[in-house]
Amino acid sequence: MAGLTLDHITKTFTDSRKDVIAVNDVSIDIADGEFLVLVGPSGCGKTTILRMVAGLESLTSGEIRLDGDVINDESPKNRKIAMVFQNYALYPHMTVRENMRFGLEESTNSSDTEIERKVRETAELLDISELLDRKPKELSGGQQQRVALGRAIVRDPAVFLLDEPLSNLDAKLRAHMRTELQRIQEELHVTAVFVTHDQTEAMTMGDRIAVLNDGELQQIGTPLECYHTPANQFVAEFIGSPSMNFFELEVQGSRLISMTANGRFEYPISEETRDAIGDRATVVLGIRPEDIIVSEDRGGEHTFEAVVDVVEPMGNENIVYLTFDSDTMSPDTFIAAVDGFKQISAGEPVIVQMPEDDISIFDAKTGETLR
Ligand code: ATP
Repeated sequence: MAGLTLDHITKTFTDSRKDVIAVNDVSIDIADGEFLVLVGPSGCGKTTILRMVAGLESLTSGEIRLDGDVINDESPKNRKIAMVFQNYALYPHMTVRENMRFGLEESTNSSDTEIERKVRETAELLDISELLDRKPKELSGGQQQRVALGRAIVRDPAVFLLDEPLSNLDAKLRAHMRTELQRIQEELHVTAVFVTHDQTEAMTMGDRIAVLNDGELQQIGTPLECYHTPANQFVAEFIGSPSMNFFELEVQGSRLISMTANGRFEYPISEETRDAIGDRATVVLGIRPEDIIVSEDRGGEHTFEAVVDVVEPMGNENIVYLTFDSDTMSPDTFIAAVDGFKQISAGEPVIVQMPEDDISIFDAKTGETLR
């Protein structure tokens, strides 16, 4: 049993010129056996959180608890927590077996046969039994990744910390290792915290994801919760690919309005949306590319004239870059994802529909989700 609690943790680094708040008052409860993904852009504090949990970095304030026990001052060795790094950090002069044994010899006083048994079992779990006598330089990236995992697993940790462990692998291997990692984590029933800035990894791997920005927790929830009910514009933009489209619009009665080169863009809103907006003068309308309907004929509510700028055929779908402005390169390009069989080409005038059921509305200043 290993529930991990981050209770109002903060980390401030004191630079020669100024303080950097790397992690700002973050609280997360991670259940025993849960796979939590920490996701956010570069510099948002992901690695710093892992390093604090591992005991490699002290906390400025707050508490970290493992199964209810405060571990702030526990040495890394005594934490029953294993960390796997992005660059694997294997010892180059040691064989795979020695690399794996090293982790174990360091942290326990098990007998030699016990250690050997553990190494063999783990090698089997990871399908690297054939590689035990090789040195790291004789292994592929994917194999080195497995050894790094193996070195963590032999220690029988209660919590696994994984810092972008798949980022050095090619796309195909990365996809394979995503499912492998999940299988292993389930088989060992270990609590895992997985750091990534890749939103595909976040969407596909975690029981829950915690989205961070600027050291602050933006939202924690299942991948689908974060996708369908983002807490704010940052989460809405970060989760989902291609990203949600945003339009900053003025509120005028029961319409949202902006000026485009083609004239006025007017989006009529229901009473419910109007109520959610309150007395704000401007808001941001968001709509996901897959929710924009592209057709040739006008009709129905919330339809607008647009022009196709660029089409990226992806096979199963076309990513269509659109603009309201036919004459010049408009900064207001937006993206629709349409069926791959749909015939559509650059320069074509089209009608786009943005159904009100599919839009999100955000506060223009704070980014808070209003509906
Ligand atoms: P990445 O995805 O690029 O690895 P990250 O989300 O893991 O980024 P951190 O490495 O945790 O981000 O860094 C968070 C912030 O803290 C950054 O602004 C970084 O520059 C700063 N920082 C990290 N370590 C130190 C340090 N030892 N001294 C000063 N500032 C630091």
